[in-house]
Amino acid sequence: MMLDDLKANNRAWAERKVSADPGFFKRLEGQQAPEYLWIGCSDSRVPANEIVDLDPGELFVHRNVANLAPPQDANYLSVLQFSVEVLKVKHILVVGHYGCGGVAAAVDGKRRGLVDHWLHPIREVCHEHRGELEGLDERQRWDRLVELNVKRQVRNVASDVFVHDAWARGQPLAVHGWVYTLGTGLVTDLNVTIESPADLDKFG
Ligand SMILES: [Zn+2]
Repeated sequence: MMLDDLKANNRAWAERKVSADPGFFKRLEGQQAPEYLWIGCSDSRVPANEIVDLDPGELFVHRNVANLAPPQDANYLSVLQFSVEVLKVKHILVVGHYGCGGVAAAVDGKRRGLVDHWLHPIREVCHEHRGELEGLDERQRWDRLVELNVKRQVRNVASDVFVHDAWARGQPLAVHGWVYTLGTGLVTDLNVTIESPADLDKFG
């Protein structure tokens, strides 16, 4: 597919939107009021809006390799602060996916350069849960590490000061952990939702 095809796709898409709802883009031009922040993997097979069938304006999105929420990453923190304090999203979805190349690359022992440092938090998760992971075959270990990484990132988000300040203000805010299955297009809720400081105790 050439870039001219993408431009043609764009025009056709915009026309479809307008024919279904003539005021669609004009409304969005005025403001965005999404209720959800999506923190997901950059993988091209995990397109945030499409998976949950939401329109432009309905999902604030942050994506990086292996859906990390590192407490020192200025990009993620800027997104988190803006979405919580300005947009006042009600739900933050940390969405990993089975078959994540980033998670695999974190622990395969090969050297790739900068990304090895980016993926460091996953190696820490792997080390902390090595007892459980050692008993699994390769595929199960990969899947489980994907889930454990999501849980860890949920905890990172839920323990952030921006989130705690929101709760202290009485602002409703829940942090959820989901995993997406590439082969079915379905998300699974890991049921690790945190919506108050007390919920953080769920994690041992
Ligand atoms: Zn991935």
